[in-house]
Amino acid sequence: MKTIREALTKGASLLAESDTPFLDASLLLTSVLNISKEKLLASYPDPVTDEQYNRYRELLDRREQNIPIAYLLNRKEFYGLPFFVDERVLIPRPDTETLVETALTLLHEQSTLTRILDLCCGSGCIGITLKHEAPECRVTCSDVSEDALDVCRLNSKKLLGEVLPAVKSNLLDSISGKFDIIISNPPYLTKKEVHRMADKKWPEPYLALEGGDDGLRFIRKIIADAGAYLAPGGYILLESAIDQTYYIEQELTAAGFTGSTVVQDLTGRNRVTLGRKQEQEPHAE
Ligand code: GLN
Repeated sequence: MKTIREALTKGASLLAESDTPFLDASLLLTSVLNISKEKLLASYPDPVTDEQYNRYRELLDRREQNIPIAYLLNRKEFYGLPFFVDERVLIPRPDTETLVETALTLLHEQSTLTRILDLCCGSGCIGITLKHEAPECRVTCSDVSEDALDVCRLNSKKLLGEVLPAVKSNLLDSISGKFDIIISNPPYLTKKEVHRMADKKWPEPYLALEGGDDGLRFIRKIIADAGAYLAPGGYILLESAIDQTYYIEQELTAAGFTGSTVVQDLTGRNRVTLGRKQEQEPHAE
C-alpha cells in the first residue's frame, strides 16, 4: 500500500514530459479518490488502496500517451460550469470565454436581443453558458457532427436541466428562422497546423479544428450566409486566431455588416470579431 505523497511523487516522475507533471498527477489522483484538490494536498500521509493505485496507474499510462486531462476525467470547466467532454468534441478553451463575455455584454445592453444561434456548437459550451447566464434568451445549438450534438444535449440536460434545441446542420444549410445573435467558434486552424497536431497524435476531432489552407474557409462561408439568418440589427460574433481578425473585419464590412469590431482576450490578443446587420435593408437604387 502507498501513501498519497508516494503516489503523487511517482505520478509526477512518470509525467515528466508534461508541462505540468505534478498538477496532472494531482488531478488524476483526486478523481480516483473522489476528493478535492485541497483535501488531497492536506492528506499526504493517508493510504491509497491497491485498487485505487491501479486505477491511478491506468490513468497515468493514458496521460503519458498525451491524452489531455479533460478527456481522462471527462470534464472541463468553462465559465465556471463543469462540461462533460470526450473525444467526440473539442475541449473548451479559456479563449472562448471572451466570445461568451462579448455576447453577454450585448445581451445586457440590449434586451431586444433574445434569439441566439450557437453555430458549430461542439460540447455546447457557448450556447449552454449563454442560456445559463441569460435564461430569458432562446438558444439553438447546431453542428455538422451528430456525435457532438449528443455531447451538447448531454451537457444541456446536466447543466441547465433542459435540452436546448440541437440541430444537425452543415454550417447554416439546415437552419431555419431568424436570430438576433449568431455566435460561432468554428474550425479555424490551418491545414498545416492541424497536420502538426496529427503528427503528435493529438486526439481532438480534426473536423472541429481545420479550416482549410488559411483556416478561414468556414468563417468566409458563415459571413457570406449569415445575413439571411439574422434579424435586422442582429449581430454576428466569431472567434478566430489572432492574425485572422483583421481579415474577418474587412470581410464583414464587405458583406454589408456595420460597426465591425475586434475584441481582445484576457491576455490582450485579438480573438473575437463582431459585426451588425443593418437595421433597415439598404434600398435598391
Ligand atoms: N483555439 C483552438 C486551438 O488553438 C482552435 C479552435 C478552433 O479551431 N475553433 O487549438
